[in-house]
Amino acid sequence: GGADLECEMLVLGAGPGGYSAAFRAADLGMKTVLVERYASLGGVCLNVGCIPSKALLHVAAVTDAATAMADHGIAFGKPKIDLDKLRGWKEQVVGKLTGGLAGMAKARKVDVVRGVGTFLDPHHLEVALTRGDGQEQTGDKQVVRFGKCIIAAGSQSVTLPFIPDDPRVVDSTGALELTSLPKRMLVIGGGIIGLEMATVYSTLGTRIDVVEMLDGLMTGADRDLVKVWEKVNTPRFDRVMLKTRTTAVKAQKNGLKVSFEGDNAPAEPQLYDMILQSVGRSPNGHKIGAENAGVAVDERGFIATDKQMRTNVGHIFAIGDIIGQPMLAHKAVHEAHVAAEAAAGHKSFLDARQIPSVAYTDPEVAWAGKTETECKAEGINYGKAVFPWAASGRAIANGRDEGFTKLIFDEETHRIIGGAIVGTQAGDLISELCLAIEMGCDPVDIGKTIHPHPTLGESVGMAAELFEGVCTDLP
Ligand code: FAD
Repeated sequence: GGADLECEMLVLGAGPGGYSAAFRAADLGMKTVLVERYASLGGVCLNVGCIPSKALLHVAAVTDAATAMADHGIAFGKPKIDLDKLRGWKEQVVGKLTGGLAGMAKARKVDVVRGVGTFLDPHHLEVALTRGDGQEQTGDKQVVRFGKCIIAAGSQSVTLPFIPDDPRVVDSTGALELTSLPKRMLVIGGGIIGLEMATVYSTLGTRIDVVEMLDGLMTGADRDLVKVWEKVNTPRFDRVMLKTRTTAVKAQKNGLKVSFEGDNAPAEPQLYDMILQSVGRSPNGHKIGAENAGVAVDERGFIATDKQMRTNVGHIFAIGDIIGQPMLAHKAVHEAHVAAEAAAGHKSFLDARQIPSVAYTDPEVAWAGKTETECKAEGINYGKAVFPWAASGRAIANGRDEGFTKLIFDEETHRIIGGAIVGTQAGDLISELCLAIEMGCDPVDIGKTIHPHPTLGESVGMAAELFEGVCTDLP
């Protein structure tokens, strides 16, 4: 059939997966088209995910730290909040990054087509062109003929069916808009995204309840880490209702009336000014006409790939949230590079021993490689070394010695197979353990590496030294 545009490589979706794939493909010499429905590149991560949430979490962390200084002899007044200014600053952060991406696309001569893409067949994508800030259609269509394709169409928030359509009910995107400060907010779902937003709103003065169906918060992490987080964060919450479900939400003039059921359900329905639904994200696999291209999509909307990110159709690849868990930006970027290189004929494939997870809460919770829970489930004979930050000079000087650093190693080979940190900056500190796992280090390698003193990073070396046989002269 006729096409308005031809390319060697078409990338569908301009999130961290899509733009990384398009840039790598262009760098490898392929004529590349990038299709994105929104005006702004960067996908969920840059526009309504990782970046705006971290801009707000930074403000929250500094505010909390300033307040805590009263205990050390420096008292500030009660914070005065200018919501418009705060929102403006967040938008500035996002704008800097998305603007940078537009420039990088231009520099590489990646052709960005603005519109909603739907596959017509294994070599054609129809794009319903869009304009404005959102997805308003112009009515015009453009057909792109492609040699190869990388699907990077991402995911979107799951919404619970029984919750009324009401402006006071938001998902993470709505919560990040920061249009008002509710007095009482209910967070449905105690995962990372819900708890990050709870951190921001509680620092800004909102009273928060969390309801979670499972019997713990941040269920991917080992419980010893979460316990530390919980102890510090107790004051943020009126109620944390585990093993409990919301059963009904009634929109009233004076608020949203919520009924609960389960182990920790309050007897009476509760009234909230805002509800954040953070119960997970679902992949966009069923929204792109994948069947017309012959690409297999499972019931939930995920697309399966091999280690080269190839779908069941040889010249079509898929990456990022749309191919499965963990739904994280750094995973999408690495998959993107593999897919673009494989499409260009390189022998690249994904062979990650670890994909780190971080909750950018206060304290932060970070883990990489195997958790203890996974080791137990998989019957791995593992050992661990835990260094409590109560023995870290820097953590004590910071007034934040509640954390710890944990190494998990294979009892037979002694190689590091996992690690976790809870404490301030844990997300930055975990990188050393990511490298250790990838390189197959043992605790001796880390323990004999001279770390700077006094730092929080030193705690990784200290944990390694606790491993029997590395060092015998410890206190
Ligand atoms: P996406 O970022 O979802 O991008 C997909 C793109 O495709 C979108 O721009 C979409 O508009 C476009 N698209 C979809 N369908 C079509 C179509 N038919 N036509 C045209 N365009 C289309 N991850 C982290 O690693 N660290 C974090 O700190 C972190 N924080 C987060 C905080 C929040 C609040 C949320 C919601 C997510 C967070 N994530 C974080 C997850 C992270 O945002 C995602 O894992 C990441 O964005 C996935 O990238 P992707 O390229 O697969 O898809």
